[in-house]
Amino acid sequence: MTTPSRYRCTACGNLTRFDLVRFQRTREFHHFTTGGELKIEEHEVLEEMTESVSCRWCESSQDVVKIVTD
Ligand SMILES: [Zn+2]
Repeated sequence: MTTPSRYRCTACGNLTRFDLVRFQRTREFHHFTTGGELKIEEHEVLEEMTESVSCRWCESSQDVVKIVTD
């Protein structure tokens, strides 16, 4: 498991709300009932790629930086 990245908008100071566009390749276990109702019982992310991150407040994507924690 990887910890999700945190972001900061340097234009307006937003730390909490972002729009992310991501590609994900996942493996899921689809468990159907005999009535055809689906329940997803396992969800594993095999690959993940973030295409863009934009600020929800000022809609800037140029000013959003990833926060590096140590
Ligand atoms: Zn912003």
